[in-house]
Amino acid sequence: MNIPAKSKGRLLLHTCCGPCSTFVARWFAEAGYEVTGFFYNPNIHPYEEYQRRKAAAEAWAEASGVPLITDTDYDPENWIVSIGSDISSRCTACYRLRLIPAARKARELNCVAFSTTLLISPYQQHDNIRLVGEQVALESGVDFLYRDFRPDFRQTYQLSRSLDLYRQNYCGCILSDLERAARLAAKAQKR
Ligand code: SF4
Repeated sequence: MNIPAKSKGRLLLHTCCGPCSTFVARWFAEAGYEVTGFFYNPNIHPYEEYQRRKAAAEAWAEASGVPLITDTDYDPENWIVSIGSDISSRCTACYRLRLIPAARKARELNCVAFSTTLLISPYQQHDNIRLVGEQVALESGVDFLYRDFRPDFRQTYQLSRSLDLYRQNYCGCILSDLERAARLAAKAQKR
């Protein structure tokens, strides 16, 4: 990574997966931040998939020389409780569930700010992530660094291929897995 001589301080980067981390962490490092990754994603189902994504995040961190915190609990019941019965707007609760601990960890480590690799995905509710991040910043007193990384999403393909990282094909929760299966079935029927 090309890290500028003058540091802007430590940044806690919530890490959703290895592939999305490749570009986002590099961008923040080149902008002058000392990046620490934070893997907390209790939304991921099933556990085997959680382990695969965590292993990919660890592989990315090791190859990139970025410290990564992964000693977080796998507590899917927390995700279930957070979304409640509000299935249609569950993603907002899911972002909050992950960004609140990220802000807490940022404060604990005296980071100047926190952010999330979710900001690079064109498949996420981008404006909601920004809203939630800014709201959590107000509540926690730790700045949220926002940037629209979506135009750079394609670069994560090449970067993750070069590191041979596992790349998932659904967002993470059981509902998103079912939606993926439904999409595939609809496509197959059209053929
Ligand atoms: S679709 Fe993705 S962001 Fe939305 S609730 Fe499921 S895992 Fe969370």
